[in-house]
Amino acid sequence: MFPVVDIAVSVRTLCHFTARSGDLDLRFTPSPTGVEGIAGHQTVTARRGAGYQRELALSARFGPLVVQGRADGFDPVARRVEEIKTRRGDAGRVPANHQALHWAQARVYGWMLCEQLSLAQIEVALVYFDIDSGQETVLTETCTADALRDFFEDLCERYFAWAWADQLHRHARDEALTALAFPFPSFRTGQRELAADVYRANTRARHLLAQAPTGIGKTMATVFASLRAMPDQGTDRLLFLTARTTGRQLALDALERLGAPTRLPLRVLERLARDKACEHPDKACHGESCPLARGFYDRLPAAREAAAQAAWLDRDRLRALALAHGVCPYYLGQEMQRWCDVLVGDYNHWFDVGAHWFALAEDQGWRTALLVDEAHNLIDRARSMYSATLNAHEFLRQRHEATPDIRKAMDALHRRWSAFARELPPAEGTQALADGLPDDWATTLQNTCNTLLDLLAPQPGPAPDPALQNWVFEALHFVRIAEGFGEHSLCEAGPWVAPPGGRGRRLPTLRIRNVVPAPWLEARWAGAHSATLFSATLAPVEHVEEMLGLPADAAHVDLPSPFAAEQLRVRIAPWISTRYADRLRSLDALVDVIGAQFHERPGNYLAFFSSFEYLDLARQRLAQRHPDLPHWAQTRGMEEPERDAFVARFVERGQGVGFAVLGGAFGEGIDLPGERLVGAFIATLGLPQVNAENERMRERLQQRTGHGYDHTYLFPGLMRVVQAAGRVIRSEQDRGCVWLLDDRFARAEVRRLLPSWWRVEVAPRP
Ligand code: SF4
Repeated sequence: MFPVVDIAVSVRTLCHFTARSGDLDLRFTPSPTGVEGIAGHQTVTARRGAGYQRELALSARFGPLVVQGRADGFDPVARRVEEIKTRRGDAGRVPANHQALHWAQARVYGWMLCEQLSLAQIEVALVYFDIDSGQETVLTETCTADALRDFFEDLCERYFAWAWADQLHRHARDEALTALAFPFPSFRTGQRELAADVYRANTRARHLLAQAPTGIGKTMATVFASLRAMPDQGTDRLLFLTARTTGRQLALDALERLGAPTRLPLRVLERLARDKACEHPDKACHGESCPLARGFYDRLPAAREAAAQAAWLDRDRLRALALAHGVCPYYLGQEMQRWCDVLVGDYNHWFDVGAHWFALAEDQGWRTALLVDEAHNLIDRARSMYSATLNAHEFLRQRHEATPDIRKAMDALHRRWSAFARELPPAEGTQALADGLPDDWATTLQNTCNTLLDLLAPQPGPAPDPALQNWVFEALHFVRIAEGFGEHSLCEAGPWVAPPGGRGRRLPTLRIRNVVPAPWLEARWAGAHSATLFSATLAPVEHVEEMLGLPADAAHVDLPSPFAAEQLRVRIAPWISTRYADRLRSLDALVDVIGAQFHERPGNYLAFFSSFEYLDLARQRLAQRHPDLPHWAQTRGMEEPERDAFVARFVERGQGVGFAVLGGAFGEGIDLPGERLVGAFIATLGLPQVNAENERMRERLQQRTGHGYDHTYLFPGLMRVVQAAGRVIRSEQDRGCVWLLDDRFARAEVRRLLPSWWRVEVAPRP
């Protein structure tokens, strides 16, 4: 029998759960940053008289439910408790349902103080502080202790039933996880070792970088071991983070195979991006526009209950359930994040600047385990998360088309941007700004955004231009990234844009481009109890560590391949150069290798190139010199059905060559076992193009690490090569070949980056 234990809950969570009603309303209301919020609270409380008590820790009990929180302020003389909310702009614009939530918090603190100080009544005040004007709007009510106790008990009663069921669920979950068995009769080679490493990392609260070859069942091993470690470690949530939809599906398949949710009482949530989950993309997220936002909070309790019962909330299930209850699937998913054990989603849910899961885990004090799938992708994804662009073209266009008040709000920034442009050395293209932007730049931009947001805040009349709103959101992101600017990033100005009509000063687009995400990611690693990053290509490990900045005590493992060298014949063709200048000259030799290999062993092959142009040249030449050889090709911007059709041509015992771009949709994440794929040709080292942008990155990485070329070109390139080659051998029965079509593959510094289980031959010239 599960023992009755105290259940702790914060005032915030209690009120969020019970005191929201009416519409979902996400019309953008300008809100202060966390730092501004803290400063705003300090300003308000500093204005109060002597004896005023700040940040008062309070608690109250309702049966086993212990409600805890900190009241913003209490004036013992006036007997007034204050709940302070910092905001931007007119307090009259706070939506009624937000205000109801704020009142609920204030009243709960009111009751706690009445109980603690044996007061018969108290003044409860809601203070809205406008951080721009410094004005306070104070709403007050005088409440008796009896009324406040009734209010408090009503909230607690409604929350308690849910919280108690949640505790029972947690208990059942942990019991089941303690007894969780591996769902196959045996482990594959290397799979047990990987599972043991992940388990050990969890029990030692450390992070793990695991390079493990394709085919050993990494997803199952990591999910199984993390789940097994949860009860002992008191882990609250397991997050499976991936860069691709296919990765999400693999995680869900593994969880299902482990028995979730029928035999294994786990609540599992698949999280999509809002644009993928939205049912009404032509509408806005508020009750006046979207029917699924209207009355959302009134229908949420029943939908939440049904979702918790369902336990398995993949995209289809969650959608069906949300629509059956008339609520938005995306925001029902957001609510269920709080109540699910395993969350499956994209990297950005944890690593992005404003990542929701990370913020929630911090707020709730969760012990979180992370699994980062195909972690080699995280380097580039994190770079883009911590980069920002301030688009001059869009700014000038918006200012040109703006109403007089919006234009006025943009003028200060326009003047500052123009003055800044005058100071820059004349240049047509993009130039690097070694010292970043001037100190006052972010302030000017922030102030402009504040004014614009105030003007764009919900009010009667036509909806604001979404393009202008988007520009403001991007500008706010830019402010945040600019504030964290350091030698981990580059600051660039350009290209230059003329105002519409051509009259007036040209302005440069401004860009902060992250090169080393490590400093930004530090807090994300610190926020996880244990993080396992796994991939088939994490070599060299120093590169990954340097870029991602894992803590010094992070463990690494490099698991041997379950495949034998005999299964894969790897040959280098040193008579071919795929350097840009040599491409046309080497085309005949290149397609002849493809033709000869195909005739030696007819079957399905993939051929990878560095660009679509190169791919087209090779394809045309192949058609001329080997007209009987069937082939098909990847094209730019393929949609999902076209991508599926490309892959579908790789049928068992089929024959032909699929042409693809390295690093694109077919270079990783596709599984073509057995005879569906018997070989690959890789006509590139995968090196990013040498251009001004990459050269600036190389220089910065050279200063920072002493190995600029390797970090910019060689390591990312070879990771892509190894990923692409990894498509060929998918099981211990597969046999195949890989042709590395470039003389540079024979160099020692390149060969050392190839998997150690490959036996690489340098082929003689035919
Ligand atoms: S359905 Fe779309 S528009 Fe409606 S609330 Fe959900 S995300 Fe917003």
